Amino acid sequence: MTVGRRHVGAILLPLLLLVGCSKLLPPKDQVTALEGATLIDGAGGPPNQDALIIIRNGHIETIARVNDIPVPRSAERINLAGKTVIPGLIDAHAHVERWAAARYIAWGVTTVRDLHGGTDTVLALRKDMNLGSIVGPRMFSAGAMIDGVPPTYPNATGIASADQARRAVDQHAVAGVDYLKIYTKVTPALLRPLLDEADKLRLPVAAHLGKTDALTAARAGVVSIEHMSGVVQAATGDPKYASAHDNFLAGWTAEEKGWAGLDSAAVARTARALAQTKVTIVPTLVVHDMLARLDNPILLTRPGMEDVPESAQSVRSVPSLLRRTGWRAADFDAFRRSRRREDQFVREYRRAGGSIAAGSDAANQLLIPGYSLHEEMSLLVAAGLTPLEAITAATRRGAQLLHADSLGMIAQGKVADLVVLNANPAGGIGATRNIAMVMIRGRMIRPDSLRSTWK
Ligand SMILES: [Zn+2]
Repeated sequence: MTVGRRHVGAILLPLLLLVGCSKLLPPKDQVTALEGATLIDGAGGPPNQDALIIIRNGHIETIARVNDIPVPRSAERINLAGKTVIPGLIDAHAHVERWAAARYIAWGVTTVRDLHGGTDTVLALRKDMNLGSIVGPRMFSAGAMIDGVPPTYPNATGIASADQARRAVDQHAVAGVDYLKIYTKVTPALLRPLLDEADKLRLPVAAHLGKTDALTAARAGVVSIEHMSGVVQAATGDPKYASAHDNFLAGWTAEEKGWAGLDSAAVARTARALAQTKVTIVPTLVVHDMLARLDNPILLTRPGMEDVPESAQSVRSVPSLLRRTGWRAADFDAFRRSRRREDQFVREYRRAGGSIAAGSDAANQLLIPGYSLHEEMSLLVAAGLTPLEAITAATRRGAQLLHADSLGMIAQGKVADLVVLNANPAGGIGATRNIAMVMIRGRMIRPDSLRSTWK
């Protein structure tokens, strides 16, 4: 017996030591060296040739030129000669659905700013993606939006008094949202106590406006204006827009058409006044463009739609939207006439030094998770931004809105979220869609292998 015990101990002791040691030793470093790409860092500077990007444990450790410094011996080396690297894209206006998670990654979108869903549903999805239990972008979320009464969406939080406004903010804070989203029926009288409470709890407020005009909301302290909502009211001072927003669809239609009636000077003046408030505009030109072309059935078969499953009702539900709105040819003509003024506003906002962030509004009607952010970048360029400014709008500006300083740029110490492109988008923004590889948290993913999981 004693001999036996000694024998067992002799085997067990080294085993225990091994187990114990493996807990004490730091995990092995994961080092990747990306060599030879052209680098667009997201901060707006000119592209750098022959970049060497060294990534250690999910963060960018060093950026240099190839051959300027030695590549660590332990690094996995990836030759990117002829490729262009941009930061992981940030969709600053998303409604994230579970089926879409991997689609975002396949299209290079590594962060999403979610702006409404059922609070429990979207916060569970946020947890799954941020812990890495499903493949998807890192996610920030507003939970359910806060609206007037009756709320436009049944899962939104409706408020009718200052007390209810404060309580709604507190409830959202307790639920653990990252910021708040207010909707069209929130009046200036409700907005003030809401912003006061949000400020105490350090929750930024994103605004899709209706009954409050853009200048009033921006001066009161909202951090972003979504879809350029409330700009037509601010430019005209016409109270008919606020009244129209008693009904969501009536307000939306009036505003969408109202752009066409603005004169150029009013657009410029409003853009300058808004830029002074430092509010960020998330124009979602792709939404306005889609509305202007909703009568065109070709949109349902355009590139990118192949990634959208048949069951994705939110994207494919155009007929039900048309039934609810009753929009006809004359309405679409009016929406098309508005596009010129919307583009002018974006241009004037940029000229006045205002911050513009790129957002898609996917997965709403015809907007494709991931892909529509590339459509938005192209539309921003068509409106007058340079390709590099459009990339900054889809990277750095989104990170600033999220107060996520480690995202949205390729620089030392930042999180290693990046996209490897087969062509240089500085020479044509369409190149952002030509994706070779996507890195999130230092892990390289090939879109083709991801697509094979849903095809
Ligand atoms: Zn939206």
